[in-house]
Amino acid sequence: MGFWGQGPQRWFCNFCSEAMKTITIFGATGSIGQNTLDLVRRNRNDFKVVGLTGASNIRQLAQDALDLGAEIAVTADESALPALRDALAGSGVQAAAGQNALRDLAARPVDLAVSSIIGAAGLAPSLIAAQQGTTLALANKESLVCAGPLLKATAQKSGATILPVDSEHSAIFQALIGEDMAAVERVIITASGGAFRDWDTADLAKATPDQAASHPNWNMGQRITIDSASLFNKAMEVIETKEFFDVSPDKIEVLIHPESLVHALVGFSDGALMAHVGPPDMRHAIGFAMYHPTRADLPVQRLDLAQIGQLTFRPACEDRHPALRLARDVMKNGGLWGAAFNAAKEVAQDRFIAKAIRFTDMAAVVEETLTQMSSDSGLSVAPQDLETVLHADQLARNVAAAVKV
Ligand code: NDP
Ligand code: MG
Repeated sequence: MGFWGQGPQRWFCNFCSEAMKTITIFGATGSIGQNTLDLVRRNRNDFKVVGLTGASNIRQLAQDALDLGAEIAVTADESALPALRDALAGSGVQAAAGQNALRDLAARPVDLAVSSIIGAAGLAPSLIAAQQGTTLALANKESLVCAGPLLKATAQKSGATILPVDSEHSAIFQALIGEDMAAVERVIITASGGAFRDWDTADLAKATPDQAASHPNWNMGQRITIDSASLFNKAMEVIETKEFFDVSPDKIEVLIHPESLVHALVGFSDGALMAHVGPPDMRHAIGFAMYHPTRADLPVQRLDLAQIGQLTFRPACEDRHPALRLARDVMKNGGLWGAAFNAAKEVAQDRFIAKAIRFTDMAAVVEETLTQMSSDSGLSVAPQDLETVLHADQLARNVAAAVKV
């Protein structure tokens, strides 16, 4: 295994005898996954890659698994297993595929599991890793939106630590270090405003998927970029804030901040407002979680505030961005509403990408799905297990696919 030797329970760097963190990355082929691997490559003495997962991008998955000497590569797509096996043949890297393989990998003990699959598909690995007591670097906001109370109870039972990777939540987390939650008056998360922040509201209905998938500040996966344009991403993050920090919804505010340099602010009872300022580069939040509780030397731009000159903020209007209003309903109702909200949003986005509905119809599909499902009393039940959440998710998908707009 090259330069690395294995101790009884931990991996050690043979050069410096420092313990290495064993790491598995769920969604390694995606935007967060690739940024994580960039940090691993720059610091090969710090991390021992155990598992990498992907879905459709087999070439990238195999290349990274070989390069980093992973023990196993898993694709969610069972039909891609032969291609993955071929690409890894003779290397000693194990190949596996399908939901059970993903769950088995999540159950495998590591020091850190990065949860960066897109969508509700990321929930099972998050939950299973948390069951094992594995420290979770959580990018997959859907895990908290769909099943926040369940994930938190699972982590509490096993003793697992959950660290935020979403930039706003990493920022809040950092602003709260050493603080008393009882003194928190408000939490403000910022939104770039996405691709259409300067468009007239009347023009939004004409926006195309390609236009929505082009972000002015951040380089992210296609789906979260479209969610940024509709502010569904921010709506998800408001729910994520409530779940992550146990903040009451009326204390959570959203500000449009086109520069994307202030990621979040926490207001305290003495009037202090602690802001987290940094470049729009996910490697900061990812690296913070990877090295927690220490701070590493990360390869992100150091901001020159004198050159930047000014930072601007404006309120986020719920009439223009109905996703934010829907998030308030979801938080008020609790239970499985988050799972239904997210599933409906994913289906609405699929329909928009397929050009079957307009940009502005996405919120209408989600709202109508929730309205139709509100008569189902099962939705108000707090999620008890993964199956209950996936059931609500599937019901919402069926309803959302049939909503006429
Ligand atoms: P990407 O679309 O770039 O990557 C998604 C990853 O998930 C890929 O590895 C993909 O595999 C894999 N995947 C896709 N579908 C499935 C499935 N059904 N089952 C298992 N794996 C699957 O997403 P991002 O990296 O942009 O986002 C990942 C998560 O992080 C999301 O929850 C997002 O909200 C959150 N996040 C992302 C940020 C960003 O900067 N991108 C910022 C903050 C949060 P493949 O590519 O091989 O098909
Ligand atoms: Mg974010």
